[in-house]
Amino acid sequence: MADTRFPADLDRYSRQMLFAGVGVEGQRRIRAARVLVCGCGALGSAVADGLTRAGVGFLRIVDRDFVELSNLQRQVLFDEQDVASGIPKAIAAAAKLGRINSGVRLDPIVADIDAGNILQFAGDVDLIVDGMDNFETRFLINDAALELSRPWIYAGCIGSHGQVMPIFPGQSACLRCLIGDVPGPGETETCDTAGVLGPAIAVVAALEVTLAIKILCGGREAVRESLSVIDVWEPSLRAMQIGKLREQSDCPACVQGRRDWLRGEKVSQSTVLCGRNAVQISPAEKRKLNLAEVAARLAATGTVTHNTFLLRLELPGGSQRITLFPDGRAIIQGTDDPVVARGIYAKFVGA
Ligand SMILES: [Zn+2]
Repeated sequence: MADTRFPADLDRYSRQMLFAGVGVEGQRRIRAARVLVCGCGALGSAVADGLTRAGVGFLRIVDRDFVELSNLQRQVLFDEQDVASGIPKAIAAAAKLGRINSGVRLDPIVADIDAGNILQFAGDVDLIVDGMDNFETRFLINDAALELSRPWIYAGCIGSHGQVMPIFPGQSACLRCLIGDVPGPGETETCDTAGVLGPAIAVVAALEVTLAIKILCGGREAVRESLSVIDVWEPSLRAMQIGKLREQSDCPACVQGRRDWLRGEKVSQSTVLCGRNAVQISPAEKRKLNLAEVAARLAATGTVTHNTFLLRLELPGGSQRITLFPDGRAIIQGTDDPVVARGIYAKFVGA
């Protein structure tokens, strides 16, 4: 039943507007807002779900990956049908989100976020939200957010714990103030070694969406500069005050103005994918492949299937699989060795 206390076009958000921190004016700001969600895996899909239900006006979702069965334990937007279809996560997510709230303009993009495209993805949004699974891309997002002077929300999750931090370029500590540099191989836990619990994702994503709503409604002043650290197993939630972090860090990025990731100096061309026994290969030059032609060419080398978005080649023996995207990017499954993966790519896709 319609709630006559609110404008008819916002009626579906009545419970959110009744909450004092939002109200009708806050809801209007949420509806006027444009948000970029980087990555649509576990965190990204939960965040996109929350922002869509909350009624953001425009939501761009960028993800490089496709849906697999082992995703369903924690990636709330996907189901077994998506696995069977073999469609990219951004496309599957947008289909689901469009049914949840047709009032949100959705912009799904199947791409690997890199130094060459991030300014384009982030240039026309009000807020960037982290749904990534790797630090390399997070540091790139950090550079782009500083360059564009856009607020962004950093988040990460592993095992039963996670952390969330809002970043206001030039005003509060950035990711580089907090962490310094991308952790080297073996320096941190990964989902390979520690796994990840669905409920931990749910709590971290909830904190991200809450921060996003606060920022969209009230701007910088509405949000405290702090690092939230949670553990759902204990359970515990701490908000660590980091107000002095920026002035103490002499940060290369937000104080000195360096953009090491955005300039491409720190971005590698092969990326080991966390927990997947897989390596992604990104060609230096983007291509525009005709997947049907490639499929015909590869037909003799193994079992090939393809659709508009990707091509899949099962190599003889069944232990390795190539998933190729139209821009020339590929995910090589069945190895976590970048050298082996680059070799397979060169052999079947070409240098
Ligand atoms: Zn900084």
